[in-house]
Amino acid sequence: MTAGGTKGGRARDPYALQHGSTDFHVEHYDLDLTYRVRTNRLAGVATLRIRALAPLTELRLDLVGLAVSKVGVVGAKLARHEHRGGRLALRLTAEVAAGTILTVTVRYGGRPGPTPSLWGPVGWEELDDGVVVASQPTGAPTWFPCNDRPGDKATYRTTVNVENPYRVLAHGVLADRKLRSSSTTWVFDQAHPTASYLATVQIGRYDELTLAAAPVPQTAMLPAALVPLARRSLAAHGAMMELFGRLFGPYPFPAYTVVVTADELEIPLEAQGLSIFGANHLAPTRGEERLIPHELAHQWFGNSLSVASWQHLWLNEGFACYAEWLWSQASGGKSADALARQWHTRLAARPQDLVLADPGPALVFDDRVYKRGALTLHALRGAFGDDAFFALVRAWTAERADASVTTADFRAHCARHATAVGGPALALAVAALLAAWLDSPRLPAPTSLPARRGR
Ligand SMILES: [Zn+2]
Repeated sequence: MTAGGTKGGRARDPYALQHGSTDFHVEHYDLDLTYRVRTNRLAGVATLRIRALAPLTELRLDLVGLAVSKVGVVGAKLARHEHRGGRLALRLTAEVAAGTILTVTVRYGGRPGPTPSLWGPVGWEELDDGVVVASQPTGAPTWFPCNDRPGDKATYRTTVNVENPYRVLAHGVLADRKLRSSSTTWVFDQAHPTASYLATVQIGRYDELTLAAAPVPQTAMLPAALVPLARRSLAAHGAMMELFGRLFGPYPFPAYTVVVTADELEIPLEAQGLSIFGANHLAPTRGEERLIPHELAHQWFGNSLSVASWQHLWLNEGFACYAEWLWSQASGGKSADALARQWHTRLAARPQDLVLADPGPALVFDDRVYKRGALTLHALRGAFGDDAFFALVRAWTAERADASVTTADFRAHCARHATAVGGPALALAVAALLAAWLDSPRLPAPTSLPARRGR
């Protein structure tokens, strides 16, 4: 949380993409949803526990494409509400002080659907026979009213009633399931603070395939017809989890689920404790096996440690891309060093007009953020050596678990570790290395690891 300043005096984050507010923090979402697959009808009651971070006379939540029928506030008196342009504004009769706790209840509904973004439609999406919710970066308001910015993390209870025989998956642990003759109510608790874009609901006719049992249960939920393919393409999942646990630190959540839709999806996407893939991503002939480690790595980088603003996205995508290279080497493919050289050559041939630490909102999801981010980590690994580098990474995930992070936090973390393991000389070298990779558009020279250091 980086809240500061006072009412009206807050500089807007240019990466906020017109979503979210830094005037308040949502501590907890209780979402009670009824959905019918056949008609794509959603009816919801969202109860938000909100803490004011500044004196407030108005609260603005994000909610897109659904109609609000009733709003209630406990802890302050509501004068009126207005829902326009994807923003639900609640006007209070009098200012409340910073620190005030408010409970806001919103009754809403309609026919949910994806909302356009700079990166294509995102959010709740009706499939041929079910639902997928992939919200990064701004799709969460397509299914619940929220403070839609990645740094505002909350706990959740998500209750979804769906007609039988559909199965519901959501972020969190299945806490209850009430079966009735025509519908079932599924209840999920998420105790880890979760960014709104990582909240999710998946609805389908899934079979369950156990991928591995340790160190946490790893399960694929997928159409029965895809089980044989998944058995082959996800056969090494337990080994992948073991590798990442060893290199990055313990897996941050109680379980991991790979959801595969019957439909093809353009890109897979991470959510809290699960990842969503299309049927097409299981076919290894298309070179998409790298996406499996990529999405798994996001559980550490993006989900447990979340970016405070989209500006710092390289911290998610750089690590996730680097995880692909680490897994490639560990599973008998190209080494991380070879992949780093290959991508350095490719990036060198592309325009060098992107500053990793501040790419601008339009380029946040540019592929160069991913690849240059991974190359930055590879360079850091070269400077520290394997043991110190992976110790630095494990300290990063341990110290910042469940929190929000920025590039400045990462620089400070690297500086501390450099000083500890190599004194001021290494600290200076690491600061210069990070400045070259993060702050200047020019691509620094490639790093090669000593041959025997490979993992
Ligand atoms: Zn990613």
